[in-house]
Formats: sequence, structure tokens, C-alpha cells
Amino acid sequence: MGDEPAPLRAIVAKRLSRLTDATTHLTTESETIEEYCRRKNIVVVAETEDLDVSGGKPIRERPKVGPWLTLDHLHEWDLLVLYKLDRGFRNHLDFTNFYHEFCEVHSKKIVSVSEDIDMSTQMGRFIAGILVQFAEWELERMRQRRGDAAKVLREEARWGGGPFPFGYIPYKEGAFWYLKPHPMYAKEVVWMAESVVAGKPPGVVAWSLTQRGIPTARDVQNDFFGRPMKKYKWTTTQVKHILRSDLTRGYVVHHANGPKKPPIRVIDPDSGEFIRRAPLIDDDLWVKLQAALDSCTKKLSGIRAKGSVLLEVGFCGYCGAPLYRAGSKDRQGRDYPYYLCKYAKTTCKPSRSIDKDGLEDAVFGNLLSAVGDCELTEKRVIAGDDHSAILMKIGHQITDLTAQNFTRGGVSDFHAKMAVLQAEYERISAMPKEPPVIRRVSTGKTFRSWWESADDDLRHAYLKDADVTVRVVLAEHADKIMLSGRSTTDKAENPALDIPLSILTEAGKFAVHIDLGTLAEQLQHASAVTA
Ligand SMILES: [Zn+2]
Repeated sequence: MGDEPAPLRAIVAKRLSRLTDATTHLTTESETIEEYCRRKNIVVVAETEDLDVSGGKPIRERPKVGPWLTLDHLHEWDLLVLYKLDRGFRNHLDFTNFYHEFCEVHSKKIVSVSEDIDMSTQMGRFIAGILVQFAEWELERMRQRRGDAAKVLREEARWGGGPFPFGYIPYKEGAFWYLKPHPMYAKEVVWMAESVVAGKPPGVVAWSLTQRGIPTARDVQNDFFGRPMKKYKWTTTQVKHILRSDLTRGYVVHHANGPKKPPIRVIDPDSGEFIRRAPLIDDDLWVKLQAALDSCTKKLSGIRAKGSVLLEVGFCGYCGAPLYRAGSKDRQGRDYPYYLCKYAKTTCKPSRSIDKDGLEDAVFGNLLSAVGDCELTEKRVIAGDDHSAILMKIGHQITDLTAQNFTRGGVSDFHAKMAVLQAEYERISAMPKEPPVIRRVSTGKTFRSWWESADDDLRHAYLKDADVTVRVVLAEHADKIMLSGRSTTDKAENPALDIPLSILTEAGKFAVHIDLGTLAEQLQHASAVTA
């Protein structure tokens, strides 16, 4: 033992810290390790840097350091140098296994620089004792971490007062307030989502919510805060907003980039996972819902009829601009509501105000005589399979598995389980995709009976959804009606239903061109109904 020993050869294993500024962390680590090796006359054979994601793996399976810990390289080194034991091993069990199964068998030593544990010295005989301490410390530290994580999570998911999303209700627990799914309205959110997935336009969903007296988010809040409820009507925009919002999925969000930019999801700094309340819509339904919303985006005008069924349905036949609703008093002081081209007072000179009731009577009367006896059908979307739901599910399983491996101190057979999931993900991604099937089912109602029972908001939503458009010019200019690129003359009329594609009619001194849009597709022969 008196001989000057040959310098020991070391493998330095570093691990990048997750969610922290990895560079500064590594600099400190590197300087400390370098200084240590210089002082102890240790020759560094190799330095490895594994990303933190591999920290969940046993050290011999980590991509960078792992290969050095194989039989091929055994003769090249003596020491494994770490900054801290917990950066080298997942837990105490991992450490003791590596020590007994590898280090003792192959006469390799472990050095932990910051903890000053050097198993190549006389101190090695105390290693057993240190191991026990390490184990205890490790377990205690994990307990603490988990406790801290739970605390942060609870703090972030608190409700701080103010507006809360539709479908949730604040409740108090201990000294703090939190949000939980509302006993009644959480179900309405699911109903909204399922309706849209089944093919109902969001405008009709909004109408139905109003009809059934479901309060809007603002009224739920009014009620909660003890203010009078205003009986607001639901709008298409609100329905769409709820069905697109991360809040509906329980994510806690933060307007980190200002109120105008979309909010970001709050991440628990410890687990790296999103902080989430109980979601109102599960992930499977969410995926289908987003696809359904994407496919009906053009119908989400967000315009409310407010008694004007022809808003964004009626257009100026001269310039193509939408007609807006206006009103004045006549000489007897009665209201005179009318529609008018947006540019009537500026650039669209020939256009005139059109009596609202006269125009609506002409349009509605012609629609009813054309299709009133046809039977109304409803769109049903029979979901196709583009595998997005199952792929998302596997994605979540992969995330969960990774997170568990980090925060619960490792998962047995982690790599085998991960490999199975990844293989399944690839297999399903490669499978052919089936598009959704859209089928129209009978409602057992004629268009007329439905129309007569519907209110203005529903009629408006329906006409918008069916792409029905109305163009108006003065009768003497009937030949000048602008059809805005939409060609209806070269298409065959619907032979099965005898429904015209368009109708030219009059309202007072105006010529009115009604394009039936896709109305014919939404109707079928009413023989069963009228017979
Ligand atoms: Zn005009």
C-alpha cells in the first residue's frame, strides 16, 4: 500500500436537470467535478451527459453513460464519478443494486463529489452505513417532494374569485375556494359536445339551451354571487367558446401573454404535468368534438337574429353587401323596421330600404310553398375512424408512464412497457383511415310544421346553416341581381324532390332572389307525413 498508486481513471456521468436552467446547473457541476478530479489526481477517461428524461432509467440503461458500463469498456476505467448520488440513481434500491451487482463484481468504485463519498478510500468500509443513511434520506426526500407537489397543485387549482367557467361551481374547503363540476350544468356541457359531434350546428345548440332555460355563464355567476339573473340568450359564439376552451377540460390556464393572446396551461413545476381540475369533457369526446367544430366552422357566424331572421342571409343585389336591420318611426309614430344595404348611404346608390315584414313574408311564404310539405331531416354524423382518439389515448399513456417513472421513483419494466406503447402507436398510425359518414334521418315533421313552431333565432340559425341566401334589388333592375359567384342556373334541380334551387319573386317594388342553398339536402319526400 505504500507505493505511489497509478492515477485512477474515471467515467464522469452528468445528468441535465429537467425544467431548470440546465446550462448554469451543468456549469457548477462541471467545475466542481473538474476541481475534484484535479485535486485527487484522477484521469477523466470519458464525460457523459444524459438528458434528464433518462434519469428514470437504471444507470446502465442510460444512452450516454450506459455503454461505458458494459463488459466492453470495463478495462478502461476505475471510478464512476457523479456530482450527487441522486443524479446517478433513481433511488436507493437502484444504487444498492448497481453497487452489489456491478461495482463489487467488477471492482469499480463510485465517487459522489458534492457528498464527498469516495468508495475508493478507506472510508469505503463505512459505505454500508452511508447506504442506509442514503436510503433513509432518499425516501424522506421523495416524501417531501410529493408533499410539495401536491401543495403547489392545490394552490394553482384554487379559485381566486371572479368569473368562473360554465359547467363549474366554486366551493370552499378549509380556508380556500376551488372549482368543481356543477351538479346540473356540467351535464349540459357534455350534451352540447355530444350534440355538435352528432351534427347539430352550434347555433341550434345555442337556441336549444335558451329554449330550455339553461342560464349562460354570466347568469350562473349572477346567481352564485346573489345578483339578479338577467335571462341572457345563448349565442353561437358562447357555445363555440365553451366547446373549444381548455377550461372545459379542467386545465388551469394563465394569461401569460396578455389578455388578448390565448392563455397557456399552467404546469406543475415539480411533476412537469399540467395542473388539471376534474374535466367536463373527456379526452375521447374532446377529439371528436374538435373535428366536428372544425368541419362546421363556416357556420359559426356568431350573429344573433334578434328578431331579424334575414341577418347575414339577406344581401344587397347590387353590391353583394349584407343587409342590416334598421328602423324608424312613420308619421303616425309607429315603428317602421326595414333592411338596408350597408353601403346604401355611401356607394350603393340604387339600393333602397326594404320593409322588413314585407321582405320576410315574401321569403318565408316562398320557402313554405316550395318545401313546406317536405319532411325535415336531421344530420347524423356516424363517426369515422381516423384513429385520432386511440392515438391520443396512447399518447396520454406514454406521458403518464414517463411521469410516473419520474415522480414515483421508477416503474418496474418501464422500458418494456414504453416499447409496447410506442409500437402500438406506430402500428395504429399506419392503419388506413375511414372518413366519417353523414346520414340524414327523418324527424317526422314537415318543414312547415317545424317552421311554424320555431322562433326567429332558430329559423335564422337554420337558414344560415343551410346556406340559404336572399338577394334584393329594385324590381326594374331584376336582371342585375348579383349572384356573387354562386352559379345556380347550370345545376340540375333536385329531381327526386321537385325542389327548385332558387326562386325569383317580388316584395313590393323589389325583386327577390332566394337561393335555397343546401335546403334540399335537408329535406325528403313527405309522403309518409302528408298521406
Ligand atoms: Zn348595396
